[in-house]
Amino acid sequence: MSKEKGSLSIHSENIFPIIKKWLYSDHDIFVRELISNASDAITKLKKLDTMGDVTLGEDENFNIQVLIDEKNKTLTFIDNGIGMTDEEIKKYINQIAFSGAEDFLNQYKDKSDADQIIGHFGLGFYSAFMVAAQVEINTLSYKEGAMPVKWLCDGGIEFEMEDGTKTTRGTEIILHIGDDGMEFLNNYRMNSTIEKYCSFMPYDIFLTDVNKEVEAKKDDDGNEIIEEPKALNDTAPLYLKNANDCTDEEYKEFYRKTFNDFK
Ligand code: ADP
Repeated sequence: MSKEKGSLSIHSENIFPIIKKWLYSDHDIFVRELISNASDAITKLKKLDTMGDVTLGEDENFNIQVLIDEKNKTLTFIDNGIGMTDEEIKKYINQIAFSGAEDFLNQYKDKSDADQIIGHFGLGFYSAFMVAAQVEINTLSYKEGAMPVKWLCDGGIEFEMEDGTKTTRGTEIILHIGDDGMEFLNNYRMNSTIEKYCSFMPYDIFLTDVNKEVEAKKDDDGNEIIEEPKALNDTAPLYLKNANDCTDEEYKEFYRKTFNDFK
């Protein structure tokens, strides 16, 4: 046959395998992306509160929960931030990947800076598919009268959206972990990944292994000691403090966490 030259056409149907293999070479960044989204969602809600657009209770305790369920092979990220309405899911979740995906390779095929690409296209959420065979969103918007929404996608271009069951404000992202992500169903692995990327996020992050029974600690008289769960991150990092108020130990701790140097 005669010689032919051309370019392969890229359609959104086959964008996910490309995103998976090429764009996100560090598999653990989905943790950073999902926790940043959770943190942004809380910040947005607090902003609305300061502008008087929403009234939050005095005792609102903002935090991000990460649940590991090795038995059911799920990782769940929960925030009590702004939440999403069905319209917002359509706009912010459904459209980006399914319409913007095609330009994406054309514009960025020569660039190697994955972070820049993720940021530009707002593909952070989709990094979940690096480890998940299926991703589920359960969300309830802060808006008055909002209905809960459930969204499901298995990494193809099809998604399902229906009335949800979430009764508390915020968003829950459930990753049904696939073969590529089994390592993240490990407490130690998740703990160190959260510490690596999220040490200085502004809201407490808690990691819970849902299959692990926590044995109650007892004091010398046999009374149960109620322990407050401890966040993995430091929401008041050193650089936000007055230099004179920082102790030597705080400087050392900051150095260790920042440079992962525990020697
Ligand atoms: P980016 O964060 O760069 O905008 P993402 O793909 O990570 O891109 O997220 C797309 C959008 O989906 C966000 O801008 C936000 O509007 C919405 N979103 C994602 N996660 C959450 C969440 N946990 N709570 C509320 N909205 C969210």
